[in-house]
Amino acid sequence: MDKLISELVSYGLETGLVDVDDKVYVINKLLELFHKKEFAWNDERVRPLHSILSDMTDCALQIGLIEEDTITNRDLFDTKIMGALTPAPAVVRNKFKELYAKNPKNATDFYYKFSQDTNYIRKDRIIKDEKWNSNTEYGKIDITINLSKPEKDPRDIAKAANQKKNDYPKCLLCEENEGYAGHISHPARQNHRIIPLKLAGQDYFMQYSPYVYYNEHCIVFNAEHIPMKIDKNVFIKLLDFVKQFPHYTIGSNADLPIVGGSILSHDHFQGGAYTFAMAKAPYEYMFDIKEFEDVRAGIVKWPMSVIRLQSSNAERLADASNHILNAWRIYTDEEAFILSETEGVPHNTITPIARRNGELFEMDLVLRNNITTEKSPWGVYHPEEKLHHIKKENIGLIEVMGLAVLPARLQKEMSILADALVEGKDIRADANIEKHADWVDEWRDDYDITSANINTILQKETANVFIKVLECSGVYKRTEDGKTAFKRFLSVL
Ligand SMILES: [Zn+2]
Repeated sequence: MDKLISELVSYGLETGLVDVDDKVYVINKLLELFHKKEFAWNDERVRPLHSILSDMTDCALQIGLIEEDTITNRDLFDTKIMGALTPAPAVVRNKFKELYAKNPKNATDFYYKFSQDTNYIRKDRIIKDEKWNSNTEYGKIDITINLSKPEKDPRDIAKAANQKKNDYPKCLLCEENEGYAGHISHPARQNHRIIPLKLAGQDYFMQYSPYVYYNEHCIVFNAEHIPMKIDKNVFIKLLDFVKQFPHYTIGSNADLPIVGGSILSHDHFQGGAYTFAMAKAPYEYMFDIKEFEDVRAGIVKWPMSVIRLQSSNAERLADASNHILNAWRIYTDEEAFILSETEGVPHNTITPIARRNGELFEMDLVLRNNITTEKSPWGVYHPEEKLHHIKKENIGLIEVMGLAVLPARLQKEMSILADALVEGKDIRADANIEKHADWVDEWRDDYDITSANINTILQKETANVFIKVLECSGVYKRTEDGKTAFKRFLSVL
């Protein structure tokens, strides 16, 4: 155990997580955690963090500090260990502030590295995600099969089900997560530190997503647990954020179910240092907005229905965005099956994304509608049923921007499918991959399939499905009728 503690503290010193002044203090905290009274330092070669933590949790199991050997229990305990190494919030916030004063990028560089060094972002799991990109008519689309969220152990699920509902922290985003020990149904966050921000004068915090779907995937959340709401303030706040962090892009999920993200109950935005395919997509044509002739406005060549605004004046951009939001909220066009409400339930909303483009501020407004019908109970502007074998979840902000986050099951299915195709087997004969059979029939004969090219083919065809998924989610189709209907909306602006 002394060796492991020495190794971990050496890791802390090497990464800068542990200050030399705190060395003895951190060692003593770790001794307490492992119920040890004595200690002798060992000079150790430092292995990757996950190896050190895995050995330490093995020890904790042996001496009875962890009850049952499940991933959840191990995660709770190794986060507690990392909590001993992680500086207090004030230390981290001051360091961020100090770096920010020199250059905002220095501050986010420090904080991103810090969030990985503390194991809050579990790098060893993130690298398991399968990622690729494919050229499409809309540019280079990104795909990721998310494998970094570990599958829950049935024993943990059973235990969590028996647990009394807890209201602290209210959700995974709340401020109260910072330093929280967690339990069977809530992740431990002793190693988690958040950065306070002011957006349009209101209190927000920044953190990174523990699942980093893309580079420096950050989450900016309201200091209060209040629901998502797209309004003028959101535009002002998004633009305020890119003023403060010009090297980041930021967007918000829409505020209605089906077309929104997975957390509607806590107001938050997502951003990062990544240039998505959508940001690179060009204007298809320009149009004028009455009384906003100084704001450049156009439609973007993208599978969804996107209005792009540009201005060097952030205030004018927020006003123009709000003008479009207000017009869209109440807009009905029965011919195009755009109904702003049915029986008093609103359907129209917007997914907004802000970024800098040189000296200009840029705002992409993605028109959304969440209406359902008997024929499309999951949503009319949602992936159609024949695409559900690849993606049936909500099309939220990240997908809208051109990054498909696909479910973990696909990795196994694609591997079985690849073998079956190379061997010329009947796809319908295998229950694991039967659901992909109709899709495979659409393109199987276009290729001379071999074991060398099958993965590339599957990746390309999956990307094509994702494009169709986005086209389904667009309120105006990219047909002549769709384009005409889109122009009808623009004419009321
Ligand atoms: Zn919350």
